[in-house]
Amino acid sequence: MRKKIVAGNWKMNMDLAEGLKFAGSIDKYFKDKPSARALPILCTPFIHLAGVSEILKHGKVALGAQNCASEASGAFTGEVSAWMVRSTGAEYVILGHSERRMYYHEDDMLINKKTLLAINSGLKVIFCCGEVLSEREAGSHFQIVKRQLEVGLFTLSEEQMDKIVVAYEPVWAIGTGLTATPDQAQEMHKFIRDKVKEKYGNDCAKKLPILYGGSCKPSNAAEIFSKPDVDGGLIGGASLKREDFVAIVEAMQ
Ligand code: PEP
Repeated sequence: MRKKIVAGNWKMNMDLAEGLKFAGSIDKYFKDKPSARALPILCTPFIHLAGVSEILKHGKVALGAQNCASEASGAFTGEVSAWMVRSTGAEYVILGHSERRMYYHEDDMLINKKTLLAINSGLKVIFCCGEVLSEREAGSHFQIVKRQLEVGLFTLSEEQMDKIVVAYEPVWAIGTGLTATPDQAQEMHKFIRDKVKEKYGNDCAKKLPILYGGSCKPSNAAEIFSKPDVDGGLIGGASLKREDFVAIVEAMQ
């Protein structure tokens, strides 16, 4: 059985007090439940990590960051290293998110460098990939995702692949209200699993959690999650509302 995961990406939302309060309410919800249907992960801004880590310490919700530096340490003003993230108690980091690719010009090589640093610092990586609308319309979406995987991920060893969760996020569906159909998601998730199988073999491919991200909400999560190669979701907007986030976790079969 593959691990089922629903990760909330808070992006640049909530000040410290709001974030701590919100994390406390999510922690309480899952503590009171006998078992969650998927592992909930809160991916917070850097400034929340240490405080949220204390809150989540004895509960059932994991913690992640949304980025880390491409260098290990040193004179890089304003950067936060993978090891610093790990030292807060966070277990995960999102890398390769389309907003980082688009607004901060992160390319596949840089994402690969960050991924290796993060794994070597003891973090697990939620590795994002996905095509933009023009690429989908041109029919090149498989080619794009293949390149993102090959350059960004496939320098890892099979052992390092154990620390990877892939998130397929069609960029045209992020924050737009447009969602990939469950069949479109399944088709790409299967493609990703097949590529991992070709490179690393069946055992590795079978174990790899692949999340869907892009306007996932309580009303569409169950149908998307019902597809055989969809192992959960990476949730942006809907992760900022407690009821919506927990409903998406509960939507896992
Ligand atoms: C995301 O930012 O990873 C995301 C999927 O956002 P949204 O759910 O808002 O589309």
